[in-house]
Amino acid sequence: MNSNEIEIHKELKKYFGFSQFKGLQEQVITSILGKTNTFVIMPTGGGKSLCYQLPALIQEGTAIVVSPLIALMKNQVDAIRSLSSENGIAHVLNSSLTKTEIAQVKKDITSGLTKLLYVAPESLTKEEYVAFLQSVPISFVAIDEAHCISEWGHDFRPEYRNLKNIIKQLGQVPIIGLTATATPKVQEDILKNLDMSDANTFKASFNRPNLYYEVRTKTKNIESDIIRFIKQHKGKSGIIYCLSRKKVESIAEVLQVNGISAVPYHAGLDAKTRAKHQDMFLMEDVDVVVATIAFGMGIDKPDVRFVIHHDIPKSLESYYQETGRAGRDGGEGHCLAYYSYKDVEKLEKFMSGKPVAEQEIGFALLQEVVAYAETSMSRRKFLLHYFGEEFDSETGEGADMDDNVRNPKNKIEAKEQVVK
Ligand code: ADP
Ligand code: MG
Repeated sequence: MNSNEIEIHKELKKYFGFSQFKGLQEQVITSILGKTNTFVIMPTGGGKSLCYQLPALIQEGTAIVVSPLIALMKNQVDAIRSLSSENGIAHVLNSSLTKTEIAQVKKDITSGLTKLLYVAPESLTKEEYVAFLQSVPISFVAIDEAHCISEWGHDFRPEYRNLKNIIKQLGQVPIIGLTATATPKVQEDILKNLDMSDANTFKASFNRPNLYYEVRTKTKNIESDIIRFIKQHKGKSGIIYCLSRKKVESIAEVLQVNGISAVPYHAGLDAKTRAKHQDMFLMEDVDVVVATIAFGMGIDKPDVRFVIHHDIPKSLESYYQETGRAGRDGGEGHCLAYYSYKDVEKLEKFMSGKPVAEQEIGFALLQEVVAYAETSMSRRKFLLHYFGEEFDSETGEGADMDDNVRNPKNKIEAKEQVVK
């Protein structure tokens, strides 16, 4: 190790208590400390936050962190504050602050105390804030969840489109983009919109070798099929995703009637019930959560043993994110999706009410899900290829962990399924 490497290892230990970097963290941090634009693509849980938190803590000036969710920003600020004796080391700047609070934030930044300033993209556009940030030293701007900049991402936020213009007004500051979205199209969009084709790019593998991927044809017996599956995984934690709130309610009920401990979770339930059901799942008072996609953001239960898709997701990106909640601890994670072409038509019909541009993107993303469901090749290879990653389906890690590899369909049978 050279002296710089020793230095950042020491800081890692000092601030976070970790003795080793995870994956590409060290390379990313070295790139950021070199004042170069940096682009980080790592799956959820890969440790992206530390990639900008550590360099922010050890550099002169304040790092601005743009993040789309106020709740996540607050969590991160609390976590950083717990590492230090100074509350002012990290702040959030948003519209809910009082004048006094804003004055305190500005004071801490000006005095050099604040190392991390979390800002929602809409707050960053405020002229008053921009003028202030122009007057203080900024170490870099980190843009977390950078896929929000792309219409091809699963969470497009128009405010993200403005970021580059604002950052320009801050002078020559390096930009760090971070995302867990692996599709080449979204990545291209991010680099273009942030005008950083020169960025050092670091991409971790998206392969999850411990997840088993399976697709079953959806028939009218789906409910008994799901019940049988869960009973084969007795006492294990699992999530069942459904498209509609109504379906969530009815599946949860069917499971309960059949002696499976399950609770529903969707945005139509009041906040108290949602929080209660989420806690019950985390504390293992229930085995199964039946949920819409409203469930899962920020859920970090390490031992989820299965994720079932009662209905197909609207993109492979979402599918990867949702199935990714299984087997976080490295143990078994069975990902079972039910597929019928009728569901595809339903989703298409649902999208037809949307603006044309959005529709086109929606259809294209959905076609990829269809191709995944209908493929007879290695599902892992298919998914990783979609994310721009080569996978050797004979020797790669987790190569035999899917239905197509374990029980190859003969070609005619596969073809018949498509025609139906
Ligand atoms: P991401 O934003 O990529 O989804 P996070 O930044 O939330 O991931 O980190 C995921 C988890 O990994 C956190 O619990 C964090 O404390 C942990 N982590 C990050 N870096 C390290 C490390 N070097 N050693 C051990 N754990 C780490
Ligand atoms: Mg993150």
